[in-house]
Amino acid sequence: MKAILFTSDATPLQIAAVRRELMHDGAAGISTLNGARVVLLISDPADEIRLDEYSSLPGVTGVMEQEEKNLRVAHDRPPIDIQSGIEGLTMIAGPCGIESEEQVATIYEFLAGEGLRFVRGGAYKPRTSPHDFQGSGKSGLVMSSEIARDYGLQLVSEIVDPRDVEFAASYISMIQIGTRSMQNFPLLKEAGMSGLPILLKRGMSATVEEWIGAAEHALVAGAATVVFCERGIRTFESITRNTLDVLGAAALKEKTELPVIIDPSHAAGRRSLVVQGALAGIAAGLDGAIVEVHHDPASAKSDAAQALPLADFSKLMRLSRNIRAALTM
Ligand code: PEP
Ligand code: MN
Repeated sequence: MKAILFTSDATPLQIAAVRRELMHDGAAGISTLNGARVVLLISDPADEIRLDEYSSLPGVTGVMEQEEKNLRVAHDRPPIDIQSGIEGLTMIAGPCGIESEEQVATIYEFLAGEGLRFVRGGAYKPRTSPHDFQGSGKSGLVMSSEIARDYGLQLVSEIVDPRDVEFAASYISMIQIGTRSMQNFPLLKEAGMSGLPILLKRGMSATVEEWIGAAEHALVAGAATVVFCERGIRTFESITRNTLDVLGAAALKEKTELPVIIDPSHAAGRRSLVVQGALAGIAAGLDGAIVEVHHDPASAKSDAAQALPLADFSKLMRLSRNIRAALTM
């Protein structure tokens, strides 16, 4: 990764002139870090840009070539405004899939009462079998975002197809990228270009470094931030649906200040283990959890076995607050 540093009094015109020159020289991507001084990060896979030619341009104070590739993930600051439910944490909950107005209203009313700010609900469901419930699509997205708004909530929802991003961006506040899409680079780019925050699930067979690379793609494309979400990985163990890699997520936190949360639902695969998984993540110092809940779990059209009854979610919130308080004592 190449970078150009500007003096603290560099003007927007000087910065724009350098950007233009970089584009002309073949930069594949340029992103800006706005700290005390502006830094341009340049992606130049063809290695065509000669940085020394830039060091004498007006406003430039230095140029550097960095070993570290994923500079956005390494240096971006956490956004201050994505707390939800518990101070200092991002708690998100809601049904796996959006099914009906009654379902969404019952669940979101309850979650608003729990103090949540972000709720989930999938309209486009990436299912293993084409014969299973595929989601309610655009109409479900519009309906659930309206109900969320009525309760003062913001919707987090998965987008699977880059062609749906533009439409969905008017209704949702955070774009979820699912485990099966983590390295779908056109989707990451389109989602990033919306400028919304992205909740990036870890690919079920992805290493932490690959996960970081995927986040960097979204950030370079323009995502407001990335919320990393560990949802369990594929291992030889089949007693749980996936193996929740709590320490992998904690290790990621050593490399980034961006939020890292836990999804115990898709790791556990059954409701009896969901609360433990969320608490393990929070006790490990992660930044929150996203949990599938349902007012009538047995009737859920997708992921019924792991849907947490609402009363159990209240218990999870209570225990999470206690753990958070113990950690910050
Ligand atoms: C989901 O959140 O409902 C989902 C499909 O998750 P994942 O992509 O982690 O399987
Ligand atoms: Mn699900």
